[in-house]
Amino acid sequence: MDHTEHLIVGGGISGLAYADWLNTSDYLICEADTDVGGYCKTVTQDGFVWDYSGHFFHFRHPEIERYLIERMGDQRVLKVARQSRIYFGETLIDFPFQKNIHQLPREDFIDCLVDLYFKDDGPSSNFQNMLYAKFGKSIADKFLIPYNQKLYATELDRLDANAMGRFFPYANIDEIIRNFRTPDNASYNATFTYPEGGAIQYVRALQKEIPGSQISLSERVLSIDLTRRQARTNKRSLSFTHLVSTMPFHRLLRMCSLDGRLLDHDPRIYSYNQVQIFNLGFDAKGWTNAHWIYFPQEELPFYRVGFYDNIFGTDRMSLYVEIGRPADFSTDAQATASTLDSVLSALRHCGIVTDQNMISHHHVVLDPAYVHITQASLGDVAEKKALLDAHGVHSIGRYGSWTYCSIEDNIVEARALADELGKP
Ligand SMILES: Cc1cc2nc3c(=O)[nH]c(=O)nc-3n(C[C@H](O)[C@H](O)[C@H](O)COP(=O)(O)OP(=O)(O)OC[C@H]3O[C@@H](n4cnc5c(N)ncnc54)[C@H](O)[C@@H]3O)c2cc1C
Repeated sequence: MDHTEHLIVGGGISGLAYADWLNTSDYLICEADTDVGGYCKTVTQDGFVWDYSGHFFHFRHPEIERYLIERMGDQRVLKVARQSRIYFGETLIDFPFQKNIHQLPREDFIDCLVDLYFKDDGPSSNFQNMLYAKFGKSIADKFLIPYNQKLYATELDRLDANAMGRFFPYANIDEIIRNFRTPDNASYNATFTYPEGGAIQYVRALQKEIPGSQISLSERVLSIDLTRRQARTNKRSLSFTHLVSTMPFHRLLRMCSLDGRLLDHDPRIYSYNQVQIFNLGFDAKGWTNAHWIYFPQEELPFYRVGFYDNIFGTDRMSLYVEIGRPADFSTDAQATASTLDSVLSALRHCGIVTDQNMISHHHVVLDPAYVHITQASLGDVAEKKALLDAHGVHSIGRYGSWTYCSIEDNIVEARALADELGKP
């Protein structure tokens, strides 16, 4: 049986960042797919460059951004001031909604302002309560709740109050009222960077110094014996000193055994949504005043539509359309074609598609996409991670840590683990 010091499961951002940072060459990446990149893959088709939905990058550690960009050769990377809007009753208002209620029609504005002022701001036991407590009934009911329900494809009272962590744009009354006169819509993604070749450029940068012989594509890890520190894949059995898994945590739990028995866990704790994405290319330009737009309306299928062409100023409309789906969603070619028809009709209804012709399209489903962070998931992930750690199995990444995070967070987490496990 082959042995490797570090067996890395998954060649997405997290797995590659871990391998790239190790101080030893004794590692192997097993990647189930035919290429690395995970959710940061890019599709180039008919002159359009599309990611697996909108992937934009907000770096808080300039040294990480520099590290990546230095490895990209002459790739053009833009820094862009975000233009994000909300489609509301056939007008567009600036994001975040809660700071721009003054842009709403007069009656909606009064509702939001009065409810904001008289809100009952107490401790919140879940995400839905938090929205009512922090922003009042009207801001919650007109945007925050319907939008997030579409995104997460679940009732929001199931989620932890802090389910979105730093990615939720909080604002207090003072900040909201100040914003009426002096706009300051800064949030974690007020600016973003984007390489001309798409998100895969970040992947290629991390992959640059990893020898091809240490990445085994189309090799899926199927089971892990914690007692013997052995993994079985669709190609072979491997023994390891450390196994670093970036696969979704609930799937890791399902494949681990200890002393000959599968790990005991409650699968109901691990709920999540899927995101169905349509990338659409047209023969002519469309709207020029947004990078992406949020849609809270129940009658519209998508929760967000983005315009790649407005990042690089190209002359053909290039859209990504995101639809939140429950975890048990599955689709076939016929259903996908019919969803595409309803997406196009909704885009026409909103005035995004007028006389342009769609000349290219691509479809992908991210499964999972947004995990449902609950009190139960937080507790169980911490407990099970500690158990796995004790047997040399370390679960990292957005899905391995069952969290909401960015690719930069993935890199920080992977490097910290490589530093820890790489110590002599
Ligand atoms: C809709 C959406 C939009 C996003 N937008 C942004 C954004 O704008 N900016 C940003 O910074 N982040 C964004 N993210 C987050 C970003 O995509 C993730 O943080 C990042 O891609 C996670 O990388 P990862 O390596 O942890 O996981 P993944 O990308 O999921 O990689 C895991 C890899 O493991 C492989 N794998 C799984 N199981 C096995 C197995 N059994 N054996 C072998 N290999 C296996 C998979 O094939 C995959 O390649 C977004 C996420 C979503 C869902």
